[in-house]
Amino acid sequence: MGLTNTILGIIFPLKCLLCGKSGIDLCLECLQDAPSAERESAKWIFPIFDYRHPAIKKSLWLLKYNGRKRLANVFAEIIYGKIMEELAELSVMENFSAPILVPIPLSKKRYRERGFNQTELICRELIKIDKTNKKKNFILEDSILIKPNDTEHQARIKDRTQRLKNISGSFSIQKGSDIKGKNIILIDDILTTGATLSEARKVLRQAGARKIIAFAVAH
Ligand SMILES: [Zn+2]
Repeated sequence: MGLTNTILGIIFPLKCLLCGKSGIDLCLECLQDAPSAERESAKWIFPIFDYRHPAIKKSLWLLKYNGRKRLANVFAEIIYGKIMEELAELSVMENFSAPILVPIPLSKKRYRERGFNQTELICRELIKIDKTNKKKNFILEDSILIKPNDTEHQARIKDRTQRLKNISGSFSIQKGSDIKGKNIILIDDILTTGATLSEARKVLRQAGARKIIAFAVAH
């Protein structure tokens, strides 16, 4: 995979989908100007970009299915800024302190097929950015929330009730994890109906988490 990508990179150098600048499929400057998510979502969920924007849709697809892992960094740059904006208020108003970053997990089967979890990559980049800023605004826990079994792709299910049913009971908490009283920031790539994030929140709550918020790259 790595070598193939290197060779492909020589034959077809990566170019920004929007401005054509070389090096990455979507550059930070263009991403910053991409349209914001506008559709309604639950108050605790903060979606960032409008998924209907072709470059957003395409770049998320490239990260997930084409292994363009560098995109995790540009998405994280934007998400980091948004988290900081929200934390500024939440830490004062809601005592939302020392939050834990939790990526939405993949099942083991899907993780093996893909070789990585895109939301985990974004979380790792968030930690790197935080370190670069000489901060420790949050820590990463990528094995607290697990997905023991595979489920049908949510995107393939059109009906909201069916989506809720499909995802219900699909997450668990890793044995031995202690999240009692902890504040949590869930990270997801694409928000559709919110069924996945709601299910994750439910499971974390049952395990004693205090307050849970979520950020998604696109809605
Ligand atoms: Zn660009």
